[in-house]
Amino acid sequence: MTPDPYVFAPSYGPPHHTGPSLVFAFVGDKLVIGPDNRLPTAAPLGMSRECSETLVFGSLNGLVCELRVWPAATALPSGLGTAHYRQLWGQWEQGQLDALCRAQQLATWIHQNRFCGVCGQPLRTRPDEPARECGACGFRAYPRISPVCIGLVLKGDEVLLARSPHFPAGVYSALAGYLEAGETAEECLRREIREEAGIEIDNIRWFGSQAWPYPHSLMMGFFADYAAGEIRPQAGEIEDLQWFGKDRLPTLPHPSTIAFRMLDLFYGGLVGSHRT
Ligand SMILES: [Zn+2]
Repeated sequence: MTPDPYVFAPSYGPPHHTGPSLVFAFVGDKLVIGPDNRLPTAAPLGMSRECSETLVFGSLNGLVCELRVWPAATALPSGLGTAHYRQLWGQWEQGQLDALCRAQQLATWIHQNRFCGVCGQPLRTRPDEPARECGACGFRAYPRISPVCIGLVLKGDEVLLARSPHFPAGVYSALAGYLEAGETAEECLRREIREEAGIEIDNIRWFGSQAWPYPHSLMMGFFADYAAGEIRPQAGEIEDLQWFGKDRLPTLPHPSTIAFRMLDLFYGGLVGSHRT
């Protein structure tokens, strides 16, 4: 396997450098991008630096990464468009995508936290930590992270995969759902599997996690064993639900997803096959 030529190191602070930087420009929560799907350099952006939020959020191979966020209504200079994280899979290296994942979530946080939720006054970005602070009442809004439990349920050599109506045609994936207030991750997973598939699970074990900028999720992956019940898809949420063996797997999510990586580990290597 070829090593990733790009290594992203996160950091946080106000712009402090005088040398070249890599600018991740956003209009609202949308990444500004050139026609070749590359980041435009600062000059063609043609937007006044004064009207934007600007901060440093890390470095890519030692080059400072700078986030600039303009209001959502800002007109783009001709020749530039917008793109989202998923559109750049396969075109950007993983280290570049890691940088974008952080930039996207910080841009969304700035875009969605313009005013104080307590007293309504404008919020300002703190220079020393990722917090938007109200000068009137002191309230601080931190970047929102929304945990999602995703579970690959196993029954012998078979895995439980489901189709949401929102998935691309033919794609099946592991079941997933957002944590609710007061829940543990294990309780969330049991509830989601019960609601969406009608079955009980046991022996939950950790796989790993993945930051997922849609718009600010943290995917937490678990394996679990089937325990009891007959599968039945939850009406309105799940279009189809089946047990699959390795020899008849459906179309799977992109190899960059945690669902694919869990399947890849369970079956001992799927890379190169079943890609969407
Ligand atoms: Zn306030």
